Amino acid sequence: MGKGKIVIALGGNALQDSKGPATAEAQLSVVKRTCEYIVDIIEQGYEIAVVHGNGPQVGRILLASETAKDVTPVMPFDVVGAMSQGYIGYHIQQALRGELKKRAMDIPVTTLVTQVVVDEKDSAFSNPTKPIGSFYSEEEAKALMAEKNYVMKEDAGRGWRRVVASPIPLEIVEVDTVRRLFDSTVVITAGGGGVPVIEMPDGSLKGVAAVIDKDLAAELLAEQIGADVLLVLTAVDRVAINYNKPDQKELGAMTVAEAQQYIAEGHFAAGSMLPKVQAAIKFVKANPEKKAIIASLYSATDALAGRSGTVITSR
Ligand code: ADP
Ligand code: MG
Repeated sequence: MGKGKIVIALGGNALQDSKGPATAEAQLSVVKRTCEYIVDIIEQGYEIAVVHGNGPQVGRILLASETAKDVTPVMPFDVVGAMSQGYIGYHIQQALRGELKKRAMDIPVTTLVTQVVVDEKDSAFSNPTKPIGSFYSEEEAKALMAEKNYVMKEDAGRGWRRVVASPIPLEIVEVDTVRRLFDSTVVITAGGGGVPVIEMPDGSLKGVAAVIDKDLAAELLAEQIGADVLLVLTAVDRVAINYNKPDQKELGAMTVAEAQQYIAEGHFAAGSMLPKVQAAIKFVKANPEKKAIIASLYSATDALAGRSGTVITSR
């Protein structure tokens, strides 16, 4: 034990098979497999916290709520985020416990509903870009914009959709709890990037309709709890330049300067690989002696041993 502290950011592939059904049962079976890879990491002696995505799950909970609007009031978006943390956290928590037990490892697991503070004045709020929930006709969209103050945009010819901002995470409200639990317990936290809240003048918190990038939230958590490694696990083995082009080149390592150069050259797609690389840069800039790794879930332990993945270092 005691190899170091890792914050793991789990991508969508860890929760759902994109070609499989979107049922809770299917999610649990994917999560069970995912947890075998996570327990491999724990078995190596690392202490971990787990952050996960929630995009498809939030979309489905919201769709269900919007569809049932004549029977029961539509859930506010921050509440939907909290529900998704409970739903996904429950599955991970149950599956991790099962896999740990199978290997006779006596480590408790818990899920923490986690709020993350964002700035009401974040420029993202003046240009919301993240589509969420159902598609509507133009008339329905205009009615919702007037009635509920939603921002709605036409989405690639498929209809009108609500869009929300993706502000920068500033502070993890429950970070002290994570710190206290970390030594003894696997904590599943800041799911979906956390429930976005703003601080009111009287010091209270208020949930807002926004989506925080889970990779940036994982980075913030890693910084705040003093993790040794930020490990971003996704569906590809390595970060590539010229991605999906004939001259694609997978990278085993990059420095912050190289990563910034590749960003400037447009190698990383916004909303997918870009936030991962940005999170990695931020973590090693704040901790020049530490490293961030972007790797495949299925090669996570190899990546930690330097045999797979892309490692990002300050130089
Ligand atoms: P996650 O759910 O893990 O956050 P995303 O789809 O958001 O997954 O981001 C990971 C995906 O980014 C990869 O599966 C790949 O399809 C895509 N991607 C975009 N640009 C690159 C790149 N330069 N190198 C590798 N993958 C890239
Ligand atoms: Mg992503």
